[in-house]
Amino acid sequence: MIQINKLQKDFGKLRVLRNINAHIRPGEIISIIGPSGAGKSTFLRCLNLLEEPTGGSIIIDGEDLLKPGINVARIRRKMGMVFQSFNLFNHLSVLDNVCIGPVKLLKKKRAEAEQRGMELLKLVGMAEKAHSMPDELSGGQKQRAAIARCLSMEPEIILFDEPTSALDPTMVSEVLSVIRSLARQGMTMAIVTHEMSFARDVSTRVFYMDKGTIYEEGTPEQIFEHPRRELTRIFVNRIRDFHFCFHSKDYDRYALKSEWQQYCNKYFLTQETMQKALRLGVSLFRLIPFDRGAVDMFFRYSEKTRQMSVEVLLPPGMESILPPKDSKKLAVINVLCNGIETSEEETREGVRVKYRMELRHRNH
Ligand code: ADP
Ligand code: MG
Repeated sequence: MIQINKLQKDFGKLRVLRNINAHIRPGEIISIIGPSGAGKSTFLRCLNLLEEPTGGSIIIDGEDLLKPGINVARIRRKMGMVFQSFNLFNHLSVLDNVCIGPVKLLKKKRAEAEQRGMELLKLVGMAEKAHSMPDELSGGQKQRAAIARCLSMEPEIILFDEPTSALDPTMVSEVLSVIRSLARQGMTMAIVTHEMSFARDVSTRVFYMDKGTIYEEGTPEQIFEHPRRELTRIFVNRIRDFHFCFHSKDYDRYALKSEWQQYCNKYFLTQETMQKALRLGVSLFRLIPFDRGAVDMFFRYSEKTRQMSVEVLLPPGMESILPPKDSKKLAVINVLCNGIETSEEETREGVRVKYRMELRHRNH
């Protein structure tokens, strides 16, 4: 359906997209992930010609979008776009927002547009708010109205650019649920997102973008569980882990707690897991004499095994500091986990001792 060849985009001297080759088939759900500045937004914007590519070709239904003289408005109509910032018309009611495109651009009758508009608002759970103004809506409701508006133009594909990034955490899931239901109905979509568990279970394929190109693509399983290339691996691991760096004994414990809480909420972890894992990490941290540099701690929750592991990396060059296994100093740690695995990790700064612990499940 969409074939992208050697797509390139320069802003002046800055090359933002280089040699992008990809295809999107009907019914596919493509998640686009990658660090900020990788070119994800520019890629979507080039696809629907909000930006003019500098080179390459985009072929949709056999038609090259970059051919001179192409009818841009008609092409753009095939592709709906949903932005981070909703982009509703604030002076129009929700229903009018959903009807304006079909009436003005598709030349539909007002009554017909309203009827279809109400159906779409029902679909996204917003029928009750049809006559509200955008200002009266929560962020999640605004975004759902924006999705209904996008659907009203009967697009062949919807491009989402971080649709949940501007939302309060409590509203993320209502928007993701709507996108999930569109996926189930077979809508073709490309979604730039930082919601990794969503990307993992909704998409048919994942594009990992870095440095202006699709650096690696594959099924969610390939990209998240077995990334083949270095930068993908680093990105995927960093996203999955909660990392805290202790620069001194007087670390900011409030920051640690609140960041940790956010991580746990993302994976719907229980209070108990949340507290025990933190206690495990901090108990080990307390054994470390603090004169040789920063200590890194990584918490990793595996959705597959439902295991929480804690890793602690000593400063480069520092020898292992563990007391004997039966030492009183390890009493708390021994209750919380089944022992500490010690290994060494080569890093750019030198060899670092690494301790790894797995939180004990309550029931075994
Ligand atoms: P992402 O969405 O992955 O964070 P973007 O596509 O927004 O990345 O941006 C990629 C790069 O292109 C960044 O370095 C950004 O500064 C640059 N860029 C984006 N839009 C423009 C623009 N209109 N003019 C100049 N540079 C831009
Ligand atoms: Mg972006």
